[in-house]
Amino acid sequence: MSVNPALKKFCYPFLLPNGLLCAMVLFGLSQRTMPATFLPLLKIAPIAVAVVGLLLGWRFNRIRLIYAVGLLLLAELSLNVFARGDDPQLLFRLVGLLLPLNLLLVSWFREKGLVNIRGGFWLLVLASECVVAAWLLSAKSRELEVWLNYPLFDLPLLSPLPLPQLVFLVNVLVLLLMGLRYLVKPGAFEASFFWAQLVILVGQAGFSEQPLRLYLTSAGIILILGIMETSYCLAYRDELTGLPGRRALNETLEKLGSRYTLAMLDIDHFKKFNDTHGHDVGDQVLRMVASRLATVSGGGKVYRYGGEEFTVVFPRKSVAAASVHLEVIRLAVEEARFIPRGKDRPKKKPKKRSRRSGTQAKSLRVTISIGAAERGGSLGTSAAVIKAADQALYRAKKAGRNQLCS
Ligand code: GH3
Ligand code: MG
Ligand code: MG
Repeated sequence: MSVNPALKKFCYPFLLPNGLLCAMVLFGLSQRTMPATFLPLLKIAPIAVAVVGLLLGWRFNRIRLIYAVGLLLLAELSLNVFARGDDPQLLFRLVGLLLPLNLLLVSWFREKGLVNIRGGFWLLVLASECVVAAWLLSAKSRELEVWLNYPLFDLPLLSPLPLPQLVFLVNVLVLLLMGLRYLVKPGAFEASFFWAQLVILVGQAGFSEQPLRLYLTSAGIILILGIMETSYCLAYRDELTGLPGRRALNETLEKLGSRYTLAMLDIDHFKKFNDTHGHDVGDQVLRMVASRLATVSGGGKVYRYGGEEFTVVFPRKSVAAASVHLEVIRLAVEEARFIPRGKDRPKKKPKKRSRRSGTQAKSLRVTISIGAAERGGSLGTSAAVIKAADQALYRAKKAGRNQLCS
């Protein structure tokens, strides 16, 4: 069964691996309290996570990771150091209000190097927040308590919550905005902010006996995993098309068994799209073709080999069996009506029937040629299979393009 590509594009990076880690964290923390032997670990874990986060943020040039783990450490330290005052609950609530708001600000930052004006400005805002918070806690604790616990809505649904309405609603709002941010800019690191905030929210709601510091540390780990996943994607995925790249193909070929079919696909006369309509339109054609190829059936896996060439690998399939599925995607590309995205491109996809409309006249015909080869016989290595598929592709081009040769 093939999964809808749009669903794949949005849901997979959202759920995997950060969503999964979040689920595991929440399940783990909902269990019994930690055995006493682990307590010393708890003291160093937040610092260890912050140090790892800072180092990774520095190496990968990700200012948001640096700020986010720094923020979590600040929250953790203030809860630890100042919670011994008269009313630790008040500090707890104040941190619960300020932490998500600052995390949200950080998550919306642009990655513009490790030193930038916005970051400096935010650090000033954060320092001011700390000063005001310290003053409120020491001089105006009574007023602060009334203000934090002010019942905003008379909703019976909100009354069983162990959190003040204001703190709860701010946390939920921040969570929703982080989800929205992911929709606007899908990516593993954006997703990790959502999951980290969910963990922070659950940690404050007090569903388990675990201390909030465990949740804060877990939120840091989720963010670190987010950055690692992003780096993995940079190394293995092609940015333009979202398909796995050449490195991923090479690793797959190393792991494959002795029987598979490999096809090389090349867009016909692609240079003409660049020359006639510009490089941007060329990129759009590449994305459109990639999205069609991604629908390949028969267990085929698609890679961007480079330039306007793609590779499809069919594990455990003969070339004859794979050809059926390759023909389907060749036709899918041929039948796709491509309208360059420009000023006059309609916002909505035109209906199939409006064939004689003006936009139809501007639609471009894109075709691909395919060469396929099966591993076995004289083709004993992946390099030999690729070469044979390339030669078959050459034959397809020679024979008039828009066809499959094997
Ligand atoms: P053929 O039918 O024989 O394959 O002809 P072709 O024009 O497709 O082949 P050719 O190898 O002459 O041209 C490939 C072009 O693809 C040249 C290069 O500028 C362009 N190209 C490679 N990568 C990209 C890319 O990422 N974006 C864009 N827009 N163009 C690219
Ligand atoms: Mg080519
Ligand atoms: Mg070409």
